[in-house]
Amino acid sequence: PPDVEELGRSTWTLLHSVAATYPDKPTQKQQENLSQFMNSFSNLYPCFHCAEDFREYMKKDKIKVTNRDEFGKWLCNAHNSVNVKLGKPKFDCNLWKERWKDGSKD
Ligand code: FAD
Repeated sequence: PPDVEELGRSTWTLLHSVAATYPDKPTQKQQENLSQFMNSFSNLYPCFHCAEDFREYMKKDKIKVTNRDEFGKWLCNAHNSVNVKLGKPKFDCNLWKERWKDGSKD
């Protein structure tokens, strides 16, 4: 199985990059695509205990796909819930765009 840490870093890069390029005014179809992608993701993620916890998280904090900011903040909070679980510091979600859209590091 893939290394859980390496897989995690790569996956957060993918997910936050999806958020950073998601439209400010998505069509109905784009919103459906994102919902379905995240739903499939939560079922297929190849760290199975991670995926199970993430599905539980998604039951409590319903995904927001209405626009880039809403999805980006939702994803940042979801990532923070994993950070807390692992004893890592929380990331300041006001810095989410700087980190993932405008390209600055940590
Ligand atoms: P990562 O958490 O991988 O973060 C990468 C970079 O993202 C950071 O360096 C920082 O610049 C930025 N960042 C950090 N927090 C945020 C945030 N809230 N919003 C935006 N950007 C941020 N590992 C386990 O051991 N157990 C699990 O149950 C588990 N569940 C996971 C569930 C999912 C859905 C994913 C994608 C990963 C999961 N992981 C899990 C992996 C874990 O989250 C980390 O990816 C891994 O531990 C490597 O951590 P890291 O410190 O390198 O930074």
